[in-house]
Amino acid sequence: MRVCALGSGSSGNCFLVEAPRGWLLVDAGLPWRELRRRAARIGVRAEAITTLLLSHEHADHVRGLGPLVRRGVAVWASPGTLAALGISGHPLRGPTEILGLAVHPFPLPHDAEQPVGFRFELNGAALGLATDLGSVSSEVLAALRGCQVVVLEANHDLNLLLGGPYPWPLKLRILGPRGHLGNHETGQALAQLARTGLRAALLAHLSRENNAPHLALDTVARALPNWDGKLYLTYPDRPSSVVGGGW
Ligand SMILES: [Zn+2]
Ligand SMILES: [Zn+2]
Repeated sequence: MRVCALGSGSSGNCFLVEAPRGWLLVDAGLPWRELRRRAARIGVRAEAITTLLLSHEHADHVRGLGPLVRRGVAVWASPGTLAALGISGHPLRGPTEILGLAVHPFPLPHDAEQPVGFRFELNGAALGLATDLGSVSSEVLAALRGCQVVVLEANHDLNLLLGGPYPWPLKLRILGPRGHLGNHETGQALAQLARTGLRAALLAHLSRENNAPHLALDTVARALPNWDGKLYLTYPDRPSSVVGGGW
């Protein structure tokens, strides 16, 4: 079970998770041609993708949904997300099995209809994925506990956001409990997970305006002084490392 962020950030979120019966697409924020191009860079044929999981209905996660639906890709999402998108699909109401992976959806505090994060399990390995959350609730932390690999958003640096060009209502939305996670909060959450077996973390959904890759890495690393795991960045314009597998 490996994971790759084909792209992450407000320009488009799209992840691939390796399952026993193929690669599972999580979120569809990239146009079809870009998805195909980036998947090819990690040796995955986009044409072979049969299944898509959606976290929520915001445009940066569903912009490329149309072509996938037309290609017959099966869409799984929470009932609220399916309703918000006005599409039929497979309603995700609780733990289920997809492509041979155990998938546990869990609610995220975010300003969408029914946003969810995912915990994937296979043969004792666990992988967590949560982007777009305003706070790390105890429910979120419990869902990620024991994961060896976690994809977690590190959206903004607090000072850059406060001093940046965004209008105040938008700053307040991002900072709110149903907005986005700051680097510091991401570090705090990963520090907790480091005590329960975390081996690697991918920092996702970095804001171009309110964050910088080195700031996200430094802030999170400072929260993990004695951890011997590995931090990875994700990028808006290219695939991340493919992480996991050898655990
Ligand atoms: Zn969102
Ligand atoms: Zn988003």
